[in-house]
Amino acid sequence: MNKILIVEDERNVSSFIRKGFEEQGFSVMVAYDGMCGWYAAKAHKFDLIIMDLMLPELNGIELCKRIRKKYDYEVPVIMLTALGSTDDVINGLDAGADDYITKPFHFKELYARAIAAIRRHKSLEPEKIYSIADLELNDETKTVTRAGNKIQLTAKEYHLLMLFLQNQKKVLSREQILEKVWDVEFDMGTNTVDVYINYLRNKIDKNYSPKLIHTVIGMGYVMKDEE
Ligand code: CA
Repeated sequence: MNKILIVEDERNVSSFIRKGFEEQGFSVMVAYDGMCGWYAAKAHKFDLIIMDLMLPELNGIELCKRIRKKYDYEVPVIMLTALGSTDDVINGLDAGADDYITKPFHFKELYARAIAAIRRHKSLEPEKIYSIADLELNDETKTVTRAGNKIQLTAKEYHLLMLFLQNQKKVLSREQILEKVWDVEFDMGTNTVDVYINYLRNKIDKNYSPKLIHTVIGMGYVMKDEE
């Protein structure tokens, strides 16, 4: 079943949208301000997020940017805007919204756009299996193997490995790693990254070759299967 998050502070609008999607068999969650929307987006996996541009606590632009920063393009976003706010529309699309719809609108129109956005997104969905050399991560079953041996990772180690697998051959700075895996934008001591890289190396590299995680002095780390 498709899951939708609606972030809209105008209760009559949010309940009208909720009702429409529920009648179509969707599972719907509603948040009435931007911060609640952000917490919901972090805690659940949605197939689509519909958000109003003008929201208390955290506006639609900021909310959309946050979601994009955390999930890249994993979830499509449709922005609701007021009539005649062209600048807002541009800002919304810049912030990473996939589409927008101007209030007032007919549910049928929103629904058609929602279905299109979900379809577009599903066809772009990345593969669930990542690999390099003889290491494989299956994100469906959340399992990792190297040379056929099952490797137990903690949640942080798993996310760290996933980040490397999604960015093979790219040098990742400690700050980038902290931001993506620990979700912090300030420097909480980049030593944390080194410590976790060490844990991960002990599990996936120590007893195997070739080594996959390489230190780039003064820059960060890179995952590649050549020396
Ligand atoms: Ca509003």
